Amino acid sequence: MNKEQQLEIKRHSLAHILATAVLEMFPEAKFGVGPNIENGFYYDFDLPRTLIPEDLPILEKKMKEIIKKNLQFEKQVVNHDKAIELYEKAGQDYKVEILKDEAKDEEVSLYKTGEFVDLCKGPHLDSTGEIDFTSFKLTKIAGAYWRGDEKNKMLQRIYGIAFNNKKELKEYLKRIEEAAKRDHRKLGKELDLFCFSDLVGPGLPLFAPKGVVIIDELRKHIEKVCAGYGFQKVMTPHLAKIDLYKLSGHADKFGKELFHVSSEQKHDFVMKPVQCPHQTQIYASKQRSYRDLPIRYMESEKQYRAEKSGEVGGLNRVYAITVEDGHSFCRVEQVKEEVKNMVEIIKDFYSAIGLWGNHWVSLSVRDYSHPEKYIGESQDWDKCEKMLEDVSKEMKLDAKKIEGEAALYGPKLDFMFRDSMGKEIQIPTVQLDFATPKRFNLVYVNEKGKDEFVVMVHRAILGSYERFLALLIEHFAGAFPLWLSPVQVKILPVSSEKHIDYAKKVNSLLLENNIRSEIDDSNESIGKKIRDAEKQKIPYMLVVGEKEAENNSVAVRLRGSRDIEDMGIEEFVERIREEVKNRS
Ligand SMILES: [Zn+2]
Ligand SMILES: [Zn+2]
Repeated sequence: MNKEQQLEIKRHSLAHILATAVLEMFPEAKFGVGPNIENGFYYDFDLPRTLIPEDLPILEKKMKEIIKKNLQFEKQVVNHDKAIELYEKAGQDYKVEILKDEAKDEEVSLYKTGEFVDLCKGPHLDSTGEIDFTSFKLTKIAGAYWRGDEKNKMLQRIYGIAFNNKKELKEYLKRIEEAAKRDHRKLGKELDLFCFSDLVGPGLPLFAPKGVVIIDELRKHIEKVCAGYGFQKVMTPHLAKIDLYKLSGHADKFGKELFHVSSEQKHDFVMKPVQCPHQTQIYASKQRSYRDLPIRYMESEKQYRAEKSGEVGGLNRVYAITVEDGHSFCRVEQVKEEVKNMVEIIKDFYSAIGLWGNHWVSLSVRDYSHPEKYIGESQDWDKCEKMLEDVSKEMKLDAKKIEGEAALYGPKLDFMFRDSMGKEIQIPTVQLDFATPKRFNLVYVNEKGKDEFVVMVHRAILGSYERFLALLIEHFAGAFPLWLSPVQVKILPVSSEKHIDYAKKVNSLLLENNIRSEIDDSNESIGKKIRDAEKQKIPYMLVVGEKEAENNSVAVRLRGSRDIEDMGIEEFVERIREEVKNRS
C-alpha cells in the first residue's frame, strides 16, 4: 500500500472517530455517511439541534480522547436482514435506507469504534491509537441534503482535514490562508477593480476604472506584439444569425448555452458564443490570391455563453466574456512559420508576467486507432502534426506528444503554466483547423489559377480577460508589476497644507510622462498615508516635504520596503519609464 492510500484510510478512519464523538455528545444523533475526501473527510448527521462553530473544538477534544483510548475498529460480518434489524432498532433511518437499496443476499460488514457502529466496507486502521492527534483538524459545518437530493432532508455536515503529520497539516493551513488572502473576489473589491450589480444581473461583471487600466495594458501589449507578426485588428458585432453557427458547428456544440435575441421587427439573432465564425466572413468577403497569404486577424471582443450560474461575485464563470482571439488563414506550407510566430507571441507575453519557464507543452495529436473521429484529410493531418513536432524541436519546447487530445478539426499545442500557488493553468493554445475553411468555403487562388482551401490557425494567448484578470490578481496577490498597476505612483505630501503645491508639480510631471500617478491630499499623518498606499499595493510612494521641495527631489519608498531613497525628480521619471518599458 502506498503512502497516499494509507492517508486515505486514516482520513476515513477519522470520519468514524468523528461520528463516535458526535454520538457521545448527541446520543439521539442519526448518521448519514462519512467518506474520506481530498485533504480530509466529512460526516453527515441528523442532530437534535443546529451545530455552532464552538462545537468543533469540543468535538475535536473528544476525538483526541478517543484516539488516546486506542480503541479497535472491530469488524463484524452479519447478514443483510440482521443488519436492517439492528439499525431499525437503533432508529438509524438513513443506514436502513442504504441497506434497503443494497442486494439482499449479500453479507454486510459493520465496524464498531467505542459505542458507534458503522455500516461500512472498510478498510480502516486497526485502532484509533495509530493516529497522530496533532495531524488533523475539524474545519467547518455545512448543510448537505441527504444523498445530495434537495427533496430530501438537509443534514449537518462536519468537515475535517488530515495529513501525515503536524507539519503537513500546518503547511496546508498556511496555503489555505494565503489563498484566501489572494482570492480575486476579495481583492477585486478592495482594490476597486470590478463589481457586480443586482440590477444588471449576476454573471455580468462591471469593470471599474482601475480594472480597465489593467485590461487595457494587457490588450495593448498583446496587440503590439501581434502587430509585429502581421496581425491586423478587426471588429465584429456581438450578434449573428443562427445560420452562421449552424454552419460552423457551434450551434450544435453550444446548444442550450446560446443566448437568443429577438425584436418586434422579426429579428432573430444569437449572441456570439465564439469569435471565429465572424472572422471567417471577413476573409470570405473577397477573392484571395496565394500572394495575399497568410492573412491574420485579431480582436478583443465580448462573447456570450449561458453557462450554469457560477461562483457569486467571481470572474471565473461569467455570461459576458471578453476574449482575445486571433486567426491566421494560410497555406499548408505556411503553417509551420505561423505556429512558430504564435509560439513567440505566447513566449513574449508570458515572459512579461513572469510565468514563462514554469510550464510544459502538450502536443495534442489524433487518436491513431480512430482516425475516423476527425475531420480533414489524413495526409494534411500527417503533415501538420509533423510540423508541430518540428516546431517543438526547433523552439526547444520539449512538447509531450499526447494521443487523442487533438481537437476534432486539427492538432494543437497547449501550454500549461503554474501560478504562484502551484495551480496548473491551461490557457494559451495554437490549433490547426482543416474543417472550418471547408465549411465556409474559405479558398484562395493558387499559382495555377485553381481554388485551394486555406488552413485556419486559431491562437489564444490570454484567453478571456475576465479569467486572466482573476488569475493575475491571485498570482500577484494584488501587487501587480509596475506596467500593470492601475496607480503606479502615489505622492504623499508630509503636510497636505504646506506641501501640496510641490506635490501637484511632481504629479503633473509624472502625468506628462504617461506615468499613472495620484496625490494623497487627505489630512492624515504621513504614516497613515503610507499604510493606505501599501494597502492599495501601489508600487511607488513618493514622500514630499520641505527638503524635497527645496531640492526638486522626491523621497522614494518601494512597495513592501521600509527603505527610502532620495532622488532627483527627473531621475525618478527616467527610472519609472525604463522599468515600464522593460516590464520588469
Ligand atoms: Zn468506514
Ligand atoms: Zn478561433
